[in-house]
Amino acid sequence: MGTEEGRYRLSADSAEGFLPSDEEIEKWMDSAFGMAKDALENGEVPVGCLMVYNDEVVGKGRNEVNETKNATRHAEMVALDQLLDWCGGCSLDVSSVCERTALYVTVEPCIMCAAALRLLNIPVVVYGCRNERFGGCGSVLDVSSADLPQTGSAFKCVSGHRADEAVEMLKTFYKQENPNGDQKLFFCLSFIVSFPMSPYLIFPHLNIFCLFGIFCSSSLRSFFQLYLVS
Ligand SMILES: [Zn+2]
Repeated sequence: MGTEEGRYRLSADSAEGFLPSDEEIEKWMDSAFGMAKDALENGEVPVGCLMVYNDEVVGKGRNEVNETKNATRHAEMVALDQLLDWCGGCSLDVSSVCERTALYVTVEPCIMCAAALRLLNIPVVVYGCRNERFGGCGSVLDVSSADLPQTGSAFKCVSGHRADEAVEMLKTFYKQENPNGDQKLFFCLSFIVSFPMSPYLIFPHLNIFCLFGIFCSSSLRSFFQLYLVS
């Protein structure tokens, strides 16, 4: 790890002069993964993010999309809001802080977040796994290094740290939350439960047990919906 002066001396002009050491990446990504786990435990897409300035965490966040019902509350946006608050509290200029802040995140930033980081001149982003669906650092678009006039500065990416772990967390989330999978399971179970009752439901005049059939069918449907599918 270099001296503070050494690490930051070129940051305003060159991202190459602002690369975190392996020890820093290990340390801060560990915290970011902690945030991602918290997201997973709270029903959010497991992404955690940290913003570090002068060896101090000035912003951290995890996805809050479901909790806030706001599709833009990605981990990076939550962390950025904290950075803005921190700058306000310390009476520091946001631009000069951002130019010397490294962002650590467990999944490649999406196009929206990558554009925001670029506009704020964040010099370096360290991330875990690629974001094949929405990634803005090369996977879908290359917002990080493309030649885009008047849209902030290109930033350096360091990728792949604990990528397998980040992917596994995403898989765990999507297995739990796949609504199509839930619906298929629900309809399959409902059909199995309803089938023996179907004569009573189709020909209710057969006998008074039709009411019992309807009751059992609806109760069991509710049971499967509440306890097995939800
Ligand atoms: Zn995003």
